[in-house]
Amino acid sequence: MRPGRATIATHSTREIESLSEPLAPALTVASAYRFHDLDTLVEAYQGKKSPWSFYRRFGHANGRLLEETMAALEGSEDALACGSGMAAATTIFSTLAGKGDRVVAAEELYGGTYAFLQKHLPRLGAEVVLLPLDRVASDVRRQGAAVVAIETVSNPLIRVADFAAVSSACRAAGATLVVDNTFATPFLCRPIEWGADVVFHSATKFLNGHGDATGGVICGPRALVRRMRGFASGLGTTIAPLDAWLTLRGLKTLELRVERASRNAERLAAFLRRHRKVARVNYPGRTRYLRPFRGPMLSFDLRGGLAAARRFVRACRLVELVPSLGDVTTTSTHPARSSHAYLSPADRARLGVGDGLIRISTGVEDVEDILADLAQALSKA
Ligand code: PLP
Repeated sequence: MRPGRATIATHSTREIESLSEPLAPALTVASAYRFHDLDTLVEAYQGKKSPWSFYRRFGHANGRLLEETMAALEGSEDALACGSGMAAATTIFSTLAGKGDRVVAAEELYGGTYAFLQKHLPRLGAEVVLLPLDRVASDVRRQGAAVVAIETVSNPLIRVADFAAVSSACRAAGATLVVDNTFATPFLCRPIEWGADVVFHSATKFLNGHGDATGGVICGPRALVRRMRGFASGLGTTIAPLDAWLTLRGLKTLELRVERASRNAERLAAFLRRHRKVARVNYPGRTRYLRPFRGPMLSFDLRGGLAAARRFVRACRLVELVPSLGDVTTTSTHPARSSHAYLSPADRARLGVGDGLIRISTGVEDVEDILADLAQALSKA
């Protein structure tokens, strides 16, 4: 009997025979997979077979390709791809810190991570202590830390953590060191080589690099990643296949983008340091932790405060005001009114996040065009 039209239409999912493989990875959007017998399905359910082709929330081939690539780039045993950088951060801290554990973190963390540590993690029974970045190493043992969290390059003051000091303090105290490597990328710094235990990224930024995917990646020891995978699939924070696919494509050009954007950042920092309307430029000096370039992130203080910052962002033509970073285009943010607005004015002043502070994420454009845009915008600031 010939099947009816409704049956033909609903069963149109057979594989097309092929003698070759696609050069670009296939995008697999299936939310569930079909099995030919019950025993195989049971083995897959138990995670013994076919773990990346069972049910999308538990993982999928596009996510796994991204995980394997990131583990190789960061030099970790395994990796876990998540639905966002915050999904990665919350998975890490919820897995590592339980009742009675103390988490010591640098207070210059990304606002979302800071808010999670301050507001939500204590509800799981963990205690959180936030310290200035340069006090973390000396206080790890005194605080009895179980987990220590820092960023390779801090936001928005672009300060580079002293990894050797922090990681040796963590080792001596038996604390797990977690590093957010979003600003540096594995092409400028591989924190595991400096003693970090777990590294994570907002893949939404440089890893993807084109402003069209949201994701996060955790890199770490195999057993720990397995525990985190269980937690993340229970929470349902798995990365979407398209976002994993786009991030994997972005990774192909990551080194080229980071090199070009870092060279551009060096030129911008030198230009801004000479400008009379700029009071201070935050850009790292030469450091063994960022190599061979000092990175695409910088920030600067406008002498005229908030009024000057408003005039500056309005006058920019190429450098767009965007609440993100890591794109192929150069973008700016105003930390005091966005990422750090959750802090009291006194805390912002103590941290050095003033009303005239502008953070720049350099892109890969012709640097002369960006310099000209900054020059004309500063003339109006
Ligand atoms: N870490 C850093 C340094 C960030 O800048 C961000 C976002 O801006 C995150 C983590 C969170 O990433 P996502 O927005 O992908 O959740």
